Amino acid sequence: MSGTTSGDGDPGAGPSDELLDLNLLENGPPATPTAPASPGAPDRAAGALVEERLTATQRSLLDQLGTTDRPRFDPGLGPELRHELETSLQGAAEAYDQWWTAANPPRDDEEPRFDPLFVSKHKISQVHGCETRYLADEQEAFTWTVATARGIVSHKAIELSIAWRGQPTPLDLVHGAIDRLESDPYARVAEFLQTLDEATRAELMAQANDRVAAFFDGFPPLRRQWRPVTEARVRADLADDRIVLSGKVDLSLGYARGDEAGRVLLDMKTGAPAPTHVDDLRFYALLETLKSGTPPRMLVNYYLDGGEARTEAVTEDLLWSTAQRTVDAVGKIVELRTAHREPNLKVGPACRWCVLRETCDTGREYLEELAAS
Ligand code: SF4
Repeated sequence: MSGTTSGDGDPGAGPSDELLDLNLLENGPPATPTAPASPGAPDRAAGALVEERLTATQRSLLDQLGTTDRPRFDPGLGPELRHELETSLQGAAEAYDQWWTAANPPRDDEEPRFDPLFVSKHKISQVHGCETRYLADEQEAFTWTVATARGIVSHKAIELSIAWRGQPTPLDLVHGAIDRLESDPYARVAEFLQTLDEATRAELMAQANDRVAAFFDGFPPLRRQWRPVTEARVRADLADDRIVLSGKVDLSLGYARGDEAGRVLLDMKTGAPAPTHVDDLRFYALLETLKSGTPPRMLVNYYLDGGEARTEAVTEDLLWSTAQRTVDAVGKIVELRTAHREPNLKVGPACRWCVLRETCDTGREYLEELAAS
């Protein structure tokens, strides 16, 4: 098994010399010095000026993210994790494949085909919670709404801010984001955006604007040198491509240098922190390790309402336990989908949003007790 060590980085460098591992000051002026890259960045002519003009919250976040502690990971870790996942998922992949083929037999003139099992952070989290709710949600068709579209719109707006010339307001960026997404033939949300009535479009803009403004209030202006990527895709095709682990990270910053970790993965959240938020980012860290071979160095849940970042350093143990949690989740999903066992009922805060909350006696009792206490 591979080991983790703390990287040296630049021995003379402190957080303000290599912020986010990305040389904020060393890189000097950005590509377009007269054009601030994002709202709240009045002058990008010198890195030092950018630093001076940060709010206390932005400064604090930059200090948190800009630590020069960059761990080194054994280059064998990624392949070892992949091998473990491949081996451990074989049984579930075969069971799912057999069940799917029996349910969808090919015609005589048709090549055998299979439908991979897509597993996301959301499904993993759900199946480790109330399995009955997981199955109920599986049967609900996904629909675009203001609530499901505002995240993608606000992430696009933040992406646009990186290269937008002048001093756009958050609403300018949201407007630009909607324009681009609705004309993007590859954007799944495009049709929803094209058919919005005026009031719903205004509501979507207002909610996305709220998120983008909150992001720029608390987050230091993004610089190109940090290599920011919004909605960064991560994916692993495993067990002869029959199991696909996939997801999209809200914001990825930085990059690895060989076996030295440098990337920061960040999810933006509204509302209160929850333990599942930590697990979600760990899953992305696992996929990023499988993808690039070097793990990210830090995971950040950024809570927009309070401008608070909760960070976690990535370790080898974290990645192995996440791999095990993922294997366990896939096993449960396959058992439940192929009807090899009955789903359990597990009460918790999620009962409030469960589609079965009106009909599930266990959940109803729990919510009544909660309301009375
Ligand atoms: S109401 Fe609660 S216990 Fe019942 S199915 Fe939903 S999540 Fe599970």
